[in-house]
Amino acid sequence: MSFAGKQARAPILVFFVLVLSAVMGAEPVPGFQSLEKIDAHLHVRYNGPEFLNQAASDNFKAVLIVVDHGDLPQQLKFIERQKAIHPNRFRFVTSFPVDRWNEAGWEQETLRLLDESFRSGAIGVKIWKNVGMELRDKEGRFVMIDNPRFDPVINFIEKHGKTLTGHLGEPRDCWLPFDQMASESNRRYYRSHPEYHMYQHPDFPSYEAQIGAVERMLEKHPKLRYVGCHVASVEWSLEKLGQMLDRFPNIAVDLAARIDDLQLHDREAVRQFFMKYQDRLLYATDLEIAEGQNPQAVCDRLHSRWTEEWKYFSTDQPVTIQGTEKKVQGLALPAEVLKKIYQTNARKWYPGI
Ligand SMILES: [Zn+2]
Repeated sequence: MSFAGKQARAPILVFFVLVLSAVMGAEPVPGFQSLEKIDAHLHVRYNGPEFLNQAASDNFKAVLIVVDHGDLPQQLKFIERQKAIHPNRFRFVTSFPVDRWNEAGWEQETLRLLDESFRSGAIGVKIWKNVGMELRDKEGRFVMIDNPRFDPVINFIEKHGKTLTGHLGEPRDCWLPFDQMASESNRRYYRSHPEYHMYQHPDFPSYEAQIGAVERMLEKHPKLRYVGCHVASVEWSLEKLGQMLDRFPNIAVDLAARIDDLQLHDREAVRQFFMKYQDRLLYATDLEIAEGQNPQAVCDRLHSRWTEEWKYFSTDQPVTIQGTEKKVQGLALPAEVLKKIYQTNARKWYPGI
């Protein structure tokens, strides 16, 4: 067969594959490059162009999330700078500080800050695990997310049609000793962050108290649009996570930094879970770039995470579970499910992307 003959056959083959998949009713699985994807959970603490250039070259849009951790005003400045460089490559989720919780003016000041952020384009508001794990009231008790003082703030978010994005609680591993943790990445994280390793702080709220507070908050706000970060800290049980999604139709979850936790479950059970809850899951990584880091190294890590996880969701090939030697077979999700998880769910749960 001549080279020219081979070339002529390729389009015919593509045509037959398309006809066959149309007859079978299944869309062909898109390529990594061809599908416009959204990473629904990234952080930027720097002024350079590289991070979002990488997103552009991998056909990703980004949701950049601001966190009430340290330098909140500075993070908003980084966002403004990124807007000037990449006006259409990302949208952002704002946040608000709780360090003046015990002062009378906290609520008014918070509503003013949120109003300002919405005017400058924020599509949602992030609440972080410092609520539930650090913040205390005047009596020294932990302040949880179902505290009534949060209600006017949550009502304000709802009234403006914005999404509440909650990283509340932690993976269940956080309450376990190192040798009983399920995930290698959790073990690594708590070794370097003993302040958040709840097993070492038995006087802090329990795992059940954290999840219970979120559920009570959701009961009070049935019309709020809520995205639970890190699969709403229910990564250890697909059954429990499914029950939570069934109970609260107004919530979705992002997969940020918990794909390796999900990979520890039975592959068929995970696949069925993704099929059943295909409208409620948002692809996300939680990767970050900060000043002082080597942008090229961070972009390489971002690219490799994106391509490796795409392989896990879109093919049945073996992929390595992050931070381990273990391999797991890819989920080979159908095209329409991939498109939801990588794109349309983020648009639906974060209007304005
Ligand atoms: Zn994050």
